[in-house]
Amino acid sequence: MGSAQQNAGVLYVVATPIGNLQDLSARALQVLRSVPLIAAEDTRHSKKLLAHYGIGTRQMALHEHNERGITASLLRHLAAGEDLALVSDAGTPLISDPGFYLVRAAREANVRVVPVPGASALIAALSVAGLPSDRFLFEGFLPSKSAARQQRLQALAAVTVTLVIYESSHRICASLRDMVDCLGGSREATVARELTKTFETILHGSLDELLQRVESDADQQKGEFVVLIHGAQARERSAVDAETLRMLEVLLAELPLKQAAGLVAKISGLSKNVLYEEGLKLKDSG
Ligand code: SAM
Repeated sequence: MGSAQQNAGVLYVVATPIGNLQDLSARALQVLRSVPLIAAEDTRHSKKLLAHYGIGTRQMALHEHNERGITASLLRHLAAGEDLALVSDAGTPLISDPGFYLVRAAREANVRVVPVPGASALIAALSVAGLPSDRFLFEGFLPSKSAARQQRLQALAAVTVTLVIYESSHRICASLRDMVDCLGGSREATVARELTKTFETILHGSLDELLQRVESDADQQKGEFVVLIHGAQARERSAVDAETLRMLEVLLAELPLKQAAGLVAKISGLSKNVLYEEGLKLKDSG
């Protein structure tokens, strides 16, 4: 633990709006106006926000591909006594956004790092989802490939607190499908789309219902998404109950495993993958 560098500048980590430009705080505005330099994820993107507020501060790009390289020069800037503001394209820097390397390096160099809090999609979504918010797990983005995504979701299947996941328009349907398969279609969930923007939509229902709703409406596949899923209930955490196993066994005698697991998943609301595993065990023991 070290004390702050004498005469060094301050690194301000500044949250910016996630859509509605009015969501920039008065303090963020004042910091962005007064610092000599802003490190921005995409300077063209931030230029629009700065222009909206008539801020002429010089910008420098800091994105995931140059963060390591540029950090040394930003630290020199801070060591020379000049303040610096870090912003990302939207929301809070470091939350599924660049900045971790710079903040860590600044801390190691005993530079004062000051948060200027504001919007973040995960907190905005959690605040309106109506799902338990006393405890939650922020997962960020799931892997883009389905096999890796399913593996990750299976690892999350027994988590009992609310899951918060970021998703893009390219993958929202595929991701919801994998969520149904790995977590079970009956799980209560919320899909928060385009928060604070013109087409803001907050859909609530079971994962099955949400998948159907989003798949059947191209408009609901556009924009940016936060998916929030109720944590696992005690029933899901324990092994599949005897009645469900019996149902699986009966269907397995007549149908291929995949189909039997799929049907039992639909009837019981349990995860297809969990039932597939149980079916494999039944087949092995039979
Ligand atoms: N740093 C940002 C924050 O604090 O929320 C997150 C940046 S991350 C690269 C972008 C993702 O955040 C999007 O793909 C989406 O999942 C989520 N997101 C950002 N803005 C959103 C909005 N207005 N509505 C819903 N989700 C949003």
